[in-house]
Amino acid sequence: MALEQAAKSLMLKEFVSAFFLSMRYFFAPKSTVNYPFEKGPVSPRFRGEHALRRYPNGEERCIACKLCEAICPAQAITIEAGPRGNDGTRRTTRYDIDMTKCIYCGYCQEACPVEAIVEGPNFEFAAETREELFYNKEKLLENGERWEQELARNIALDAPYR
Ligand code: SF4
Ligand code: SF4
Repeated sequence: MALEQAAKSLMLKEFVSAFFLSMRYFFAPKSTVNYPFEKGPVSPRFRGEHALRRYPNGEERCIACKLCEAICPAQAITIEAGPRGNDGTRRTTRYDIDMTKCIYCGYCQEACPVEAIVEGPNFEFAAETREELFYNKEKLLENGERWEQELARNIALDAPYR
């Protein structure tokens, strides 16, 4: 009988303690966000979807040096190049990234001498087919135009640490 009483009292104590613990978390600030309506902060160093940037005058930054292609450990980048015009400079005639191979290491961005290829803040580029993840130059330049403001801000924020 005494044992039964002790068990009941212990259960009651545990129930009360669990109740107050639940109430504490019920009223505490939420640690989750209501994605996709709310989003958490993204670091300026975040390595998301790739983009090819242009200079403010619209000229392509890329000089077709192929350093990004050479350094890519996943061999995800394919570049073909040709002369830009009559000034002897070069430009890419093909710039593809196979996003299904990419491991988001950031080496391409690190290797680029002119900050042309960058990994931007966009992480919402899931696709339904593999083909949609084979990015060409047009798609990458389009990303550059779309995200230029954020890309330039992130590069400036990170500059003091480089
Ligand atoms: S982030 Fe890394 S794996 Fe992806 S394309 Fe750049 S170098 Fe290649
Ligand atoms: S993106 Fe940069 S590293 Fe790659 S080919 Fe162009 S200039 Fe060279």
